[in-house]
Amino acid sequence: MTNTTEPTDKIKILYIAGTGRNGSTLLERILNEIPGVFAVGELGRVTRYNKNKTCLCGEKLTVCPVWNVITNEIDSQVDEERFAQLDRKYSHQKLIELLKLLIKQKKQKLPNDFQQYLDSLELKYKAIHQYKSDQIITDSTIDALYGYYLSLMPAIDLYVLHLIRDPRGVSYSWQRLKFASSISKKSWTPQISPLKTALSWVKRNIFIEFMFARTEKYLQIHYKDLVENPLEVVKRIANLLNLKSEPLDFIKGQKISVGESHLTGGNMDAFKKGREEIILKADEQWKHHMKWADIILVTLITWPLMLRYSFSMHSGSPRELN
Ligand SMILES: [Zn+2]
Repeated sequence: MTNTTEPTDKIKILYIAGTGRNGSTLLERILNEIPGVFAVGELGRVTRYNKNKTCLCGEKLTVCPVWNVITNEIDSQVDEERFAQLDRKYSHQKLIELLKLLIKQKKQKLPNDFQQYLDSLELKYKAIHQYKSDQIITDSTIDALYGYYLSLMPAIDLYVLHLIRDPRGVSYSWQRLKFASSISKKSWTPQISPLKTALSWVKRNIFIEFMFARTEKYLQIHYKDLVENPLEVVKRIANLLNLKSEPLDFIKGQKISVGESHLTGGNMDAFKKGREEIILKADEQWKHHMKWADIILVTLITWPLMLRYSFSMHSGSPRELN
């Protein structure tokens, strides 16, 4: 594919927003196959919590041939200790604090330390762009708040992909025990109750729509559409990004051939070297294994938004692709 956007010095980022366990890692691995696209995974969480994490290629970020170069460049420009301090302050803003920030942004009076935080974050993306010049970066940090921060950076040309998965599928996924990493197998990801995941699903989706849905650089994608018709979904995303279509021959029906990628975070239960074939499957497990009480609870909490997104209360089928 070729980037047909007007020439610009800005860094083009496709930010994947949504809820956890919504298939964003899978989507990024697919998008990474498009020439001109570089998928970075959940970069916000890596820079936030642990730079010594493992890349999806199986190497530590400090050893991975891609991230070793990028993190060295970042280290030469960003004071990580100060960044971590500011990140603790700004990455978990309560609604009232966020509203204050929005008002200050309108008045162009952002607090100095917040501006310093944004500048450091922007430097990280500039370091990636320097290494992967002319590539569109995809980032699946997921949080709408982080996406909002990206939208404030003058060097970034932001596109938002709102990835929506049936809340019962999300909830069931959070109930299952899962290793945090296939390499160490020492820690599990936390299990979260259906009540919490349902409330979070509603809050996050409303927030994403509130922040981004009014712009033309916003696209909603259903996870179910992605697994049932990946070619059509990838074409829609390419269209959003003004990528000129060429044959996407790594997608054959629901079979996708994906190569090694360098995602920094996400669903890291399958480190892979070399090329592999993935067969996409519909999101059906919750229908067979989730407790009825949990299905009813999650449906009761989420039904207004489920109707808005055209999910069937019974089957979880989303609306047809446009
Ligand atoms: Zn790597």
